[in-house]
Amino acid sequence: MERLQKVIAQAGVASRRNAEKLIAEGKVKVNGQVVTELGTKVGIADKIEVNGIPLAEEEKRYFLFYKPRGVISAVKDDKNRKVVTDYFAHVPERLYPVGRLDYDTSGLLLLSNDGEFTHLLTHPRHEIRKTYVAKVKGIPLREALKKLEKGIVLEDGKTAPAKVKLLTVEKGKNSAIVEITIHEGRNRQVRRMLEAIGHPVLKLKREQLAFLDLHGLNAGEYRELTPHEVKRLK
Ligand code: URA
Repeated sequence: MERLQKVIAQAGVASRRNAEKLIAEGKVKVNGQVVTELGTKVGIADKIEVNGIPLAEEEKRYFLFYKPRGVISAVKDDKNRKVVTDYFAHVPERLYPVGRLDYDTSGLLLLSNDGEFTHLLTHPRHEIRKTYVAKVKGIPLREALKKLEKGIVLEDGKTAPAKVKLLTVEKGKNSAIVEITIHEGRNRQVRRMLEAIGHPVLKLKREQLAFLDLHGLNAGEYRELTPHEVKRLK
């Protein structure tokens, strides 16, 4: 959500100060209602009119970002930590993360200004496949990983079956690398699943989302999705 005067200014209709004036004078409508309060927050789904003319629709943009660890999946943080949109400062459109990765999780994150696309992709019914690689404490036994494949009861209910592979065992370090593919998107789900079988996550990275991966990107880099990729995701 962003301040109405900022959104009007970004659309190129007026300077920030003039946008404030237009709002105060009752010339701005949000979803058909006159709004005179400065600082009213609006989101991508809100329809804004200035002097009866709708703000021009922004061009729809879709990015695949390799999120580094230590970055918030949001457009703003009240503790002033780095947020994912900081990496897109020169993109004029108002981008939002499509879903989220934890602060300490790295990997594939989509960003877009297409509200319908975001809604579709984050809706549980859409069941997008996401693959994570986790470094875990200890060396999980086959039986423990089987539990995740069947579904495991967490405090918010049983998880859907996951695909799990033990990739590497680091005996000397008492740790292992596990690949896990899930279709759900509950809060801290992978961390909670692995914790539940007694192997807390030390490091987590999302490597794939549907047919997309991080090929060719380093942490902090992004690329625009092709129109074909966008179509396949919808
Ligand atoms: N599961 C987690 O635990 N963390 C993430 O960031 C994504 C999935």
